Amino acid sequence: MWVMGMMQAPPPVGPGVPRTLAEARAARVSALRYELHVTIPAVVTEPVMATETIRFALADASSSLPLDFSEPGDHISSLRVNGRNVPVQSVDGHVLLPAAALLAGDNEVRLSFRAGDASLNRNPDYLYTLFVPARAHLAIPCFDQPDLKAKWTLALDVPGGWQAVANGAETSRDEAGGRVKLAFAETPPLSTYLFAFAAGRFSVETADRNGRTFRMFHRETDAAKVARNREAIFDLHAAALAWLEQYTGIPYPWGKFDFLLVPSFQFGGMEHAGAIFYNASGLLLDQSATQNQLLGRASVIAHETAHMWFGDLVTMRWFNDVWMKEVFANFMAAKIVNPSFPGINHELRFLYANYPAAYDVDRTAGTNAIRQPLDNLAEAGTLYGAIIYQKAPIVMRQLERLLGETTFRDGLREYLRGHSFGNATWADLVTLLDARTPEDLAAWSHAWVEEPGRPVITTALRVADGTIASLTFRQADPIARRGLAWTQRLAVVVAAGGQVRTLPVNLSGLSGDVPAAAGLPAPDFVLATGEGLGYGDFVLDDGSRRYLLAHLPEIPDPLTRGAAWVTLWEEMLDGRVAPAALLDLALRALPLEADEQSVARILGYTEQAYWKFLDEPARARVTPELERVLRAGLDRSTTASLKSAWFSTLRDTARSQPVLEWLERIWRKTETVPGLPFAEPDDISLALELAVREVPAWQEILDQQLARTQNPDRKARFAFVRPALSPDQATRDAFFESLKDPANRRHEPWVLEGLTYLHHPLRAAASERYIAVSLGMLQEIQRTGDIFFPKRWADATLGGHASSAAANIVTGFIAALPPDYPDRLRRVLLSASDDLLRAQRGR
Ligand SMILES: [Zn+2]
Repeated sequence: MWVMGMMQAPPPVGPGVPRTLAEARAARVSALRYELHVTIPAVVTEPVMATETIRFALADASSSLPLDFSEPGDHISSLRVNGRNVPVQSVDGHVLLPAAALLAGDNEVRLSFRAGDASLNRNPDYLYTLFVPARAHLAIPCFDQPDLKAKWTLALDVPGGWQAVANGAETSRDEAGGRVKLAFAETPPLSTYLFAFAAGRFSVETADRNGRTFRMFHRETDAAKVARNREAIFDLHAAALAWLEQYTGIPYPWGKFDFLLVPSFQFGGMEHAGAIFYNASGLLLDQSATQNQLLGRASVIAHETAHMWFGDLVTMRWFNDVWMKEVFANFMAAKIVNPSFPGINHELRFLYANYPAAYDVDRTAGTNAIRQPLDNLAEAGTLYGAIIYQKAPIVMRQLERLLGETTFRDGLREYLRGHSFGNATWADLVTLLDARTPEDLAAWSHAWVEEPGRPVITTALRVADGTIASLTFRQADPIARRGLAWTQRLAVVVAAGGQVRTLPVNLSGLSGDVPAAAGLPAPDFVLATGEGLGYGDFVLDDGSRRYLLAHLPEIPDPLTRGAAWVTLWEEMLDGRVAPAALLDLALRALPLEADEQSVARILGYTEQAYWKFLDEPARARVTPELERVLRAGLDRSTTASLKSAWFSTLRDTARSQPVLEWLERIWRKTETVPGLPFAEPDDISLALELAVREVPAWQEILDQQLARTQNPDRKARFAFVRPALSPDQATRDAFFESLKDPANRRHEPWVLEGLTYLHHPLRAAASERYIAVSLGMLQEIQRTGDIFFPKRWADATLGGHASSAAANIVTGFIAALPPDYPDRLRRVLLSASDDLLRAQRGR
């Protein structure tokens, strides 16, 4: 475009943050500093005003320099470059600093502006920034790319009575005239996506651990709940910090350590340097917390704390390598959590935490490689998902085994030291590790990191005269023309002649023999996923499949049992095991299962099989036995965490009148579940499940629950979700209609809960009408929402559906997509609809 009055046409930049722009800027800009002063009004509808000084050195001042800011140009009231007033030239979400005003060497840019609200998460009495992956420029002018790290100085002017937290330590606080002015220390070099602040009505808890003061900001109104959780939360942070300092050999890099618990936060946590933000419900647990919730809390704390080194201290150069920070955070978290839970089988935990979720995406036509190309940060959000969070740690564990723990750790130490307060790429790390091993890491990385999908691994078992003649595993690429072979080590379990042996196999070419199996008696079963190690689509031989469906609960080793469960679930999805047969196995296995993690996993499979893979007549047949098994499990359990796992599955699958009446009595507090205390969130969940089943008093239950709810944040969420549960179609239509306005989608967890109930399996037939419109909104959802929102939106829309009519809507929708539809969103649709389409094939 040509702008009147300019000496020259601005260079074309384009919307978002294109990679070309980022590379050009990184080559020109250095020694960057931001000084930001933000004034937050007491009234949420009034604008947030700010002034900003940006200082940097410029290598080349011969052309204009784009600053990112997605608000209209007239929201900037003043722009001064090196002391001169400059007219605001706003193009495609960039403010062009004209070449004529720039200097080679030091520059200073001063702005006064009205901040954008889109990434400020404003609520009536608090707000918090969430700038990942490139949403800082939705609020403030900046160079919004991870490799232009800057030192940040922040001052906030907030309403009286508010607290505030930021990356730097608070250096001054003045309260006057009903306002509070706070200043924060300058940070070490920090990427824009890690810069953060929050202000509002927060309570602050403080604790000292190992000579360091930790501060926890929160909005929980239940004092007993805070008291019950606070020591554990501080302990877990201190343990994670100590572990990481020891492992990396680098002291905690960010000075002070604060964290904020946000009600209905978009993610589990976000690793803002020195000021981690968490979803409050993940840390402040109720007495009814399950073992998975307790482990999950420790994991998310360890994950975000690990990011202080992996991601914050050393950052990917570009978001195509965002997986690197996530894989190390998750991989380290698994190691960190272990000592805090000595009673847990951690190999089993690794299996359950990573494999099923990774397969959920990797088995679908919508899967992606761990490392993906990225041309523009506007699309960075779609890189996130199970492949990064769950497949990558599996792959990283292989790499650690390939190199050995010490070599691997030393390589990481060198990587962190060499790039501290800077940026690095996957190639930088591979080069560094490759020098420490004879293995060909580049070839290994190609199959596992650069390519999508998983191998199909089949068992070829020959038995002659009652003994094993040969045992071979063959791998095939599901994309035949690609012909990829994945190198991995398997631990093959062979149960034969009353003995269970685990035999190692190196799978590197197209097949791998197990010579040690030859001559063993004909086996009961052969399982290639022993030790929870192998990754792929494993096809059992017919005899092993039959044996496992009949005898799985008899396998003595919990890890082998777990691996068998994960394998059989995939077999069911591939159509080699009938859903009803798997559910039957689950109901026989549950009463015998001694490991709490496995109980939770089998309960999860039970619920999924029931709602997604059985039709209504089949559900009706199994309901009495299902309810009986779940009720018996609840009565038999001796811990609150285990009772909670049984109870929530029963609550979410209950259908019969006696069970619903019993649940209603529990909600009314006229009956209790011995050994299972109920807190406000439990009451809310129970009220919602009763309402969606339209028990006679559903309306009164919802009214009373709203009145009963004490915590204002939970009350607001409940009021938001409630119309999605109405038996009245017009009310539900209006709820769905309201979601078309992005302003009504600001609280993403609220929206997802509402959508999930709107599309509840019991309402599925009536909600098919929303599917196409909902999927049609994905592009806009991606543009306006946070990183996980598009996939979660698609999952919440499709998760409750199992009918062929719904499947036809989705296949029709995907078939009709225009050729220029974003590939990443197409893949989101393919992976979100995978279960629904598989359920059809299984009928
Ligand atoms: Zn993370």
